[in-house]
This record gives sequence, C-alpha cells and structure tokens, in this order.
Amino acid sequence: MAAILHASAGVDAGKRVRRFMHLQHETMPRRQLAQLQLARLRATVRNAYDHVPLHRARLDAAGIAPDDIRRLDEIRHLPFTLKTDLRDQYPFGLLARPRAELTRLHASSGTTCKPTVVGYTKQDVDHWADLMARSLFAAGVRRGDTFHNALGYGLFTGGLGMHYGAERLGAVVVPISGGSTERQVALIVDFKPRVMCATPSYALVIAEAAEKQGIDLRSSALEVGLFGGEPWSAAMRAEIEARLGLKAFDVYGLSEIMGPGVACECECQNGLHGWEDHFLFEVIDPDTGRVLPEGAVGELVITTLTKEALPMLRYRTRDITRITTAPCDCGRTHLRILRISGRDDDMLIVRGVNIHPSQIEAVLADRPRIAPHCQLIVDRRGALDQLTVEVEALPGLAASDFAEIAYDVAHHIKSMIDVSAEVHVRSSGEIPSFDGKAVRVRDLRPKAS
Ligand SMILES: [Zn+2]
Repeated sequence: MAAILHASAGVDAGKRVRRFMHLQHETMPRRQLAQLQLARLRATVRNAYDHVPLHRARLDAAGIAPDDIRRLDEIRHLPFTLKTDLRDQYPFGLLARPRAELTRLHASSGTTCKPTVVGYTKQDVDHWADLMARSLFAAGVRRGDTFHNALGYGLFTGGLGMHYGAERLGAVVVPISGGSTERQVALIVDFKPRVMCATPSYALVIAEAAEKQGIDLRSSALEVGLFGGEPWSAAMRAEIEARLGLKAFDVYGLSEIMGPGVACECECQNGLHGWEDHFLFEVIDPDTGRVLPEGAVGELVITTLTKEALPMLRYRTRDITRITTAPCDCGRTHLRILRISGRDDDMLIVRGVNIHPSQIEAVLADRPRIAPHCQLIVDRRGALDQLTVEVEALPGLAASDFAEIAYDVAHHIKSMIDVSAEVHVRSSGEIPSFDGKAVRVRDLRPKAS
C-alpha cells in the first residue's frame, strides 16, 4: 500500500487513494484472486452453456459440462472463440441475454465483411465504467480533472468506454470525439484539460496541427495522456510525450471482450495491469494452441469472468505478448501484460513528418480488402522524399478493383497520419511477410556522407 501512496502524485494523494473504491480488489492476494476467478469462471461457462447454442455445442463436443471445472488451469480444456465466430453468428447469435434485456450495442466497422456486434446489459456497462475508472486512476487521473476525450464516439467502443469511466471517476469530460483537429487544439488551450486520450496516431496529428498554428502544447495544462486502440511503439511514446508535454500511458482493450479498460499501465509503467477479477488471461502458442508458461511470448487469450450479455470463452485476441505475475512496485497484485519489443519500430522521417510503421499497420488493419502486411519504400525523387506503400489485395479480388483500393488506403493514411503516400496494390501472395513482421521498411534514400 505504501508503494502506491508513494507512486501517486500530490500531497493529498494518500487520502484520495484510500477513498478510491477499487484498491481492495486491485491489491487482493493472488490466492484469493484465483478463488474468485474460479467461481466466476464456472458461472461464466454456465451462462455460455445455458444461453448460447454455439458454446453449448462446442462444450458438448469437448465433453465438458460447466460443473466439471474444479481448477483454474482446467480452462485449457475449453474450446477457443475466434473473431470469425462473431461474424458467423452475426448479429446476435452469441448473446446470452434477450435483446430487450440489453442496455447497449456496439459494432466494429465492416464495409465488405460483416461487422462484429457486441452487447451489454446494464451491469456490463456498469462494470465497464468501473474498470475504465480503475484504469484511469492507475494512470494518475483524479476526481475533478478535466478530461479531453478525442477517441471516436459511436459504434466504436473507444469514445463511450472512456467517457463512462472518466465520469465514474469524477472527471470533467469534454466529449470532443475524433476529428476537427484545429478545434481540438483550441479546446486544449481554452479548457486547460489535465488529461487527454486519443489513438496514438491521432495524438500526433493534434501535435502537428498545434505546431502548424505556432501553438506549443508542451506549455498547456496537459499532464497525463491515455492512448490505445492501435499498436504503438516506445519511440512513438517518446515522441508523443515530447510534442504534447505529457506522460503517455498505454490502455488496452478490445470490443469483443469489453472495450477499453481491459488492462492499463499504472504509474510504474512496467506493463499493463490486466484486471483479473473480471478477466482470465492466458498466453498460447498461436500455432498449436497450447498454453505457454508465464513469461513466454505468444498470443493473448482472454476469458470474460463477469460479462452477462456476451460471455467470451478463451477469445483469441491475435495480439502477441507475454505476461508476468511478478509483484509491481505500485502494490497492485494483478498480472501485467508486457509491451512487446517486436512492436517497437524504427521511425522514418519523410518530408519532415515522423512516421512509425506501426501507424501504417494500424491504418491497414482497418481496411477490409487488403492483407495486414505491407512494404514501405522511401526513396528520393529530385529533392523530395517519396513514400510508397505496397499492400496486398485479399485473394479473389479483381485487378479492376485495385485502383479504388489504392485510393481508399491512401486517403486513410492521409487522414489518420497526415502524410501523402503512393499506394500500390499487388495481387495476393506477391508481398511476402518478413519474420512475422507486418511492415517491412526499405529506405532507399542516399545516405548522407
Ligand atoms: Zn503497477
């Protein structure tokens, strides 16, 4: 406990920490946490079995009855749930509650394939607000802080997820959402928020817009930033901190599991605490599906422990990471999801704009008709640097569609990262993936001698 008091900012931090309702959960001894997880896992499997035909069929096929689960590690016998299951069961096939009992529906964007739909009961939304508030508190946000929320509001879970959490914590929320970048800068100057949140790439767009207007956001009231919704590197964190003059925290979540607030960095910033009283985390070998020992790098798999409307059994996130249960200096006992060095990337400077390959990766991940990997080529034409992005069309797409795909990708790179790129679309299989990395960078510019 003393460590937490020490890590929190401000002279009256102790009083405020003690008043925060979640600390008893966050510092629960691990043995007690495991007992709670087991009871909640059994209830979750029961909920899924009784109310979701797909889960019942799979559990039956695996020969598992909900009451069979006696130990936490028996979770490894449960079948996985995949993103394709959400699509195949579109729109409401995985819901464990009748629609009239829901409070909210969110959905992913999906232009050519079906979106994934997630539903929440009143209690689900309530837990979400609690966990998001807990995450914000861990990152140093406090009651009374003005909170500039530049995550998108709407079907995307980011904006509303943050909003409810910040309100729950007692922050003063400015629900500006994404876009209108000049207005974002003006409101940061005028409203003096201490906290902001955005996707990391959009944070840099805001920084860029401010710099173009001659406004130095490093002297604004901003002290804390929460960034998530796409992968970002250590280099990008350093750049956001330098240009916005704040301390940048990583917040993790995915709509299939809840939305933002599944895990968040504390003030020690040595990994993201995954909230284990509401989720069960595993790391598996993505090829064999076998559970890996603690500390090994693999795919993160999450089981929800308290969700009523959309219980999720062993959801494969496709995020590659590793976890540790080693004690954190903050005093919280919940495990930490470590940032992966493989995500760290080399920043490119093209015509004065800093570009992180992970930003391009994040843009491509949202485009429906292309493979997730690409090649970035930077060369010099005359005096100017030129960025070319080579992407690969998904199998089955006609070459006559390529021009339209190229336009769409270039448009999104421009609007998300504010850089003009030439986009070349190749047929499926023409761009090899390199050592499992999504983005290969080839810098062909002459080296300065
Ligand atoms: Zn910690």
